[in-house]
Amino acid sequence: TDTSSQDNAIRETNDDAVTSKLSAVNTGYIQDEYVKYFVRRPTKRPPIINRGSYVRNAGLDILITKFLEGGGENVKKQIVSFGAGSDTRYFNFKAASRKFHKYFEIDFPEITLKKVAIIQKHKDLSDLIGNEIQLGKGGTEIYAPDYCLISGDLREWEENIVSHLEEHHGFDRSIPTLFLSECVLIYMDPIDSNKIVQWVGNNMIAAMFIVYEQILPNDAFGSVMLQNLRFRNIELRGIHAYPDLQSQKDRYLSRGWTHAEAADINEIHDNHIDPNEISRISKLEFLDELEEWHLLAAHYCIAWAYIIKDMSTKSLFDH
Ligand code: SAM
Repeated sequence: TDTSSQDNAIRETNDDAVTSKLSAVNTGYIQDEYVKYFVRRPTKRPPIINRGSYVRNAGLDILITKFLEGGGENVKKQIVSFGAGSDTRYFNFKAASRKFHKYFEIDFPEITLKKVAIIQKHKDLSDLIGNEIQLGKGGTEIYAPDYCLISGDLREWEENIVSHLEEHHGFDRSIPTLFLSECVLIYMDPIDSNKIVQWVGNNMIAAMFIVYEQILPNDAFGSVMLQNLRFRNIELRGIHAYPDLQSQKDRYLSRGWTHAEAADINEIHDNHIDPNEISRISKLEFLDELEEWHLLAAHYCIAWAYIIKDMSTKSLFDH
């Protein structure tokens, strides 16, 4: 099949992601006032999927909070969200008065066009961006003082995207920056995704990278997972290059990053989430398929890494 039909299939994964998030919100796992605006047909997901959404979201929140709080709130910081899709993190951060200098989101124009329209339609959302909203590129982009939504293909990061961000939208290589990929880089050929990892490592003074994605493609569960996606014309192109926690870490360490860690969703659930929260979510739904849950959770991981060039920024990541 050709690239464009594969790209279409990849874009459709955004609907899955946001529908699952809303299911977790509506069942009480996650608090998020804004996801509902991005879902046309709410669908209830099984308990293990809701629990997975919760742990993913809570785990990412812990890491992002550490980044935002590291070195003190007065340090200027940027967030770059790759393949942000219908992600609502920016709106939640604004509503909670979290401090950051600028939040950049990038996705294909077909996706950002819809996001712009939804933001314009709901005052709840546009109010959080503020009055100084400008639209660009045929309504596929938003430029605002602390928010920037950009349309483009991440496979052209260096040629097109980074220069666009720098020349017009205030992307700053010299301030600490968090790069976030939630189920995005895994769809790309590792040659293309690693160009981004390498570029960040070479060009930023202080950066953190956070990836949430599938692992373990080769066992029975993993094969079925890949097969189900293949039926929908979707390939996880990166999964064979980074099939486990060690290779996920080596991806950064082998490119000169200072520090890298990776944990699967079972480990995050057991060791990183507040036990009160675990007890709260355990009461939401009856989870009778424990074995199935552990298998599913073993096939998703969060990997995080940072690189520091200027030692004065070291305290950012000291925890
Ligand atoms: N990060 C969001 C989340 O977790 O809810 C969306 C995840 S969705 C599974 C994957 C997203 O990555 C889609 O919105 C898709 O359009 C985007 N994406 C994949 N490859 C891309 C590329 N080469 N350039 C831009 N966006 C891409």
